[in-house]
Amino acid sequence: MAFAALAARRLLSAQLPSSLSVPSPASSFLLSAVNRLAPRASALALVLAKPFSTETTTTEKPPAQQPYPCVVIGSGPAGHTASIYLARANLQPVMFEGWMAGGVAPGGQLTTTTELENWPGGEKGLTGPKLMEVCREQSLRCGAEIRTETISKIDLSVRPFKLWPEGKEDEQPIRAQSVVIATGATAKRLRIPGEEQYWQAGISACAVCDGAVPIFRKKPLAVIGGGDSAAEEAIFLTKYASKVYVLVRRDKLRASKTMADRLMRHPKVEILWNTVPVEAKGDGKLLKSLVTEDTVTKKQGSLDVNGLFYAVGHVPNVGFLNSADGKPQLKVDADGYIVTTPGSSLTSVEGVFAAGDVQDRTYRQAVTAAGSGCKAALDCERWLESQEKH
Ligand SMILES: Cc1cc2nc3c(=O)[nH]c(=O)nc-3n(C[C@H](O)[C@H](O)[C@H](O)COP(=O)(O)OP(=O)(O)OC[C@H]3O[C@@H](n4cnc5c(N)ncnc54)[C@H](O)[C@@H]3O)c2cc1C
Repeated sequence: MAFAALAARRLLSAQLPSSLSVPSPASSFLLSAVNRLAPRASALALVLAKPFSTETTTTEKPPAQQPYPCVVIGSGPAGHTASIYLARANLQPVMFEGWMAGGVAPGGQLTTTTELENWPGGEKGLTGPKLMEVCREQSLRCGAEIRTETISKIDLSVRPFKLWPEGKEDEQPIRAQSVVIATGATAKRLRIPGEEQYWQAGISACAVCDGAVPIFRKKPLAVIGGGDSAAEEAIFLTKYASKVYVLVRRDKLRASKTMADRLMRHPKVEILWNTVPVEAKGDGKLLKSLVTEDTVTKKQGSLDVNGLFYAVGHVPNVGFLNSADGKPQLKVDADGYIVTTPGSSLTSVEGVFAAGDVQDRTYRQAVTAAGSGCKAALDCERWLESQEKH
């Protein structure tokens, strides 16, 4: 419900001129004048002072737009924190919040959850969708421009960087001096019957986020997966659950030996080898059991559980970073997470910064994503200033 409501709201907000406006040369001129008075805005003043593109254009296409100082791609806690900081530094960020990019509504993964209990300072009853709505309002209030479009193509080979929104790949690109990538990651799901109905009503992709909620307390729970994440999530859940079943599709764990030993020794954990869930069943409101299948014998069984936690991995949203040859234009690790210089948001391409889950395979929390969005904005601001000196 919340998901649909947010999506509808975004669609409406996309009609608002303020969320779609592109700075005209006149307003940019005014801004540059204002920025000359603001010491922290020197980087923007530099960017605006640069001449318009000398690219040749055909008569069918409008002239290239003046490069933006910074474009933020993605609209979760990382993207909005970066936008708020960049806007407050008068860098006039333009955020592409996406439109169901990676299967997630603008606002990111938190739009798919309900109560958010671990956001510092969050009032009682704060929900993920509400937090992201407030973040969006704050970004706009601070001066960010938000476009409800997904970036589908990017060229990081030359500066200013070039970006194309989905459906506009043949048009003039958006140009940006710097880019903050905050496109998040999408939890893999099994798409079994009943999953949609009981998503966030017993089924979750985040034990750390949801494990402590009352519906799971002193109840039997199940975790799917055989890697380190599954082992960690299962051990975490033993704090609340009466029992934790770990469903492993093969006859061994992929987890490291230490994690596997801890898991197998835990008195509350039972590992069900060669087992996958094939259907989620409930009472119409909450999950109550799973239909399971033996991957070898194909025999089906039933498992009474009040919670099902997916720990089968995440897919970082980086497809748009691929060049024509299908290779990413900046360094990513074996699972597609953007590699950043430790302790910073710097990527392998100068002027491109990454924040949030798209570069974090370890923590993947709203507050860590927001913290890294702050780092990306500060790194970006400093980098733009350093360009001015050259
Ligand atoms: C069900 C669930 C419950 C959770 N509960 C909690 C919790 O209680 N507490 C907690 O701290 N964390 C929780 N988390 C984790 C938290 O949501 C994430 O860690 C956090 O949202 C990551 O933020 P992010 O900004 O990196 O990216 P995301 O939130 O993933 O947002 C990225 C956004 O960028 C958009 N995007 C992607 N590609 C593009 C593109 N090419 N162009 C434009 N836009 C694009 C996406 O559509 C998305 O809207 C939960 C996660 C899930 C799935």
